[in-house]
Amino acid sequence: MALFGKPKYTIVRLKKKDIPDGLWTKCEECSEVLYNKTLEENLKVCPKCNYHFTLGAYERINMLLDKDSFQESDKELESQDPLNFKGPKTYKDKLAADQAATGLKEAAVTGSGLLDSKRIVVAVTDSRFIMGSMGSVVGEKITRAIENATKNKLPVIIISGSGGGARMYEGMFSLMQMSKTCAALAYHHQQKLPYISVLTNPTMAGVMASFAGIGDMIIAEPKALIGFTGPRVIEQTIRQKLPSGFQRSEFLLEHGLIDMIVHRKNLKTTLAQLLDYLS
Ligand SMILES: [Zn+2]
Repeated sequence: MALFGKPKYTIVRLKKKDIPDGLWTKCEECSEVLYNKTLEENLKVCPKCNYHFTLGAYERINMLLDKDSFQESDKELESQDPLNFKGPKTYKDKLAADQAATGLKEAAVTGSGLLDSKRIVVAVTDSRFIMGSMGSVVGEKITRAIENATKNKLPVIIISGSGGGARMYEGMFSLMQMSKTCAALAYHHQQKLPYISVLTNPTMAGVMASFAGIGDMIIAEPKALIGFTGPRVIEQTIRQKLPSGFQRSEFLLEHGLIDMIVHRKNLKTTLAQLLDYLS
């Protein structure tokens, strides 16, 4: 037997697939490779498994409001660095990096516009900007938007996409936004004006524990992660395995925390119907 014979197998060098960058997206749920144009046309929902991809604040507004009807408020409001926070990255550096990456000044976009010809005040948090966490500016913009709605007797719709709740870089200043936004909503409620909360993947912690959790109607997108503390920390604390689907929209609907789950393609019509009903 020859010691240095030819190997019985053939080495095949795989060429990297000849796909230009930026044309395809892999589904985070089912791993299907999707053509970006198809994904856009499908409102960024996977046609195979219905996974709802994250949307940016302006994408969300364009999807919900009537064309060219959105008027933005407090667009120039920017966060200060009240604690002069220094970590692996300073707060100022983190803000600058996320502003450059997203084109946003802050994690919330607020304003008013028409939804199916009905005037509403709208606020959206964007999870791409410091996880959509609620710093002073996010809290202030949302509070001003609600106060504007109360003054002009308009309904409020807030769409939350916040993987972070409080913004640790701002400490107590951030936590105070929870009560501030809820107080503004309480005045709004006293005037018998409707507030609809829409929860998208993810809505967690101080955002869920304040304005996102107290809508007259609470709607969620399918399979969105919604909760306060993340499941891993809860498991470590209570030393028990959590039930499957814990903190997902479907589980929370079954247990009464949310009122309905609405597919993104039906969200605008559902909101319009609810506004008719609640107004
Ligand atoms: Zn999929």
